[in-house]
Amino acid sequence: IDEKRKTLYRINEKAARFFRHFLETSPEAERARAYLKERGLSGETAKTFLLGYAPEGGGILASHLRLSGVELPLAEEAGVVIHREDGSFYDRFRGRLIFPIRDVSGRVVAFGGRILAEGEPKYLNSPETPVYHKSRILYGFYESRTYIRQKDSGFLVEGYFDLLTLWDRGIRNVVASCGTALTREHVKLLRRLSRNWYLVFDADPAGERAAVKALGLFFQENLFPKVVFLPSGEDPDSLVRNFGPEAFFREVERAKEALPFLLEYLLREYGTSPQGKSAVVKELREILSGIPDPVVRYEYFRLSAERLGLPVPLLLSESR
Ligand code: ATP
Ligand code: MN
Ligand code: MN
Ligand code: MN
Repeated sequence: IDEKRKTLYRINEKAARFFRHFLETSPEAERARAYLKERGLSGETAKTFLLGYAPEGGGILASHLRLSGVELPLAEEAGVVIHREDGSFYDRFRGRLIFPIRDVSGRVVAFGGRILAEGEPKYLNSPETPVYHKSRILYGFYESRTYIRQKDSGFLVEGYFDLLTLWDRGIRNVVASCGTALTREHVKLLRRLSRNWYLVFDADPAGERAAVKALGLFFQENLFPKVVFLPSGEDPDSLVRNFGPEAFFREVERAKEALPFLLEYLLREYGTSPQGKSAVVKELREILSGIPDPVVRYEYFRLSAERLGLPVPLLLSESR
């Protein structure tokens, strides 16, 4: 079993080096190099994160791996190739900018790939494998962990480019969830680095929803992150690229405490009619009841009751 995992690490490492080399040297990758330049990333950041490019042709990685002695069924288990009906193999990632994903010890265990033109899906990811458990891996964790410890605070963002652009402009205490739903295990990992977190999700409905879900998980681990609001339509990448790190820190200064954010969000979502408030209370109760410390939990209920203009016992008791 351990031999198997070692093999999968080795294959992912080989694939990462292949994609990296292809990005740096191949004429076909010119458009990927241009794309990176257009998005304002320095060569140094691209190198730190081993960014690469997966060629268009159907099986270029597959043949490279086979020629270097890799059995392709194992490469399929590593998630980098897929088999056809006829038993041949083709590359999972084709014509995409490649973001190698590392585990907490820095081993490459998976990839994300972004399409360069318009098209679907915009991002493609490795599947779950014996070395890649999405619920336990966060993009940038390995690279950023020392910075997060140093600053004793961290930013949680949604996307690859959000992390990379912040990193590139010197904001290095940052990790990204990258399309996987946040889990309690993720939050446990984050808590090992610092107790002071900022959620900096996209200023769009999906981002706000994700922030609410994330808060529930952080609460369960006794963490109470602040929520940063970006100007409508922006994400951390676009904000910093268009307006610089100062603009980012201005928004961070204005970050909202978790509870006021939650209350405002829920009241906006459900409204202040009797039925609306009832829905607010239901969802709030679910989120707050996960808080392990009974005093903190009670205080959050009390403050919520105040804001909602309802008596505390009403928030605490289940409705019939
Ligand atoms: P970009 O700036 O490159 O256009 P983004 O990071 O702003 O991308 P979002 O749509 O905000 O893209 O999504 C946030 C993150 O969610 C992405 O970085 C990616 O990790 C993940 N994601 C987005 N779309 C998909 C998809 N179709 N499949 C899987 N993951 C996705
Ligand atoms: Mn978004
Ligand atoms: Mn985004
Ligand atoms: Mn973006």
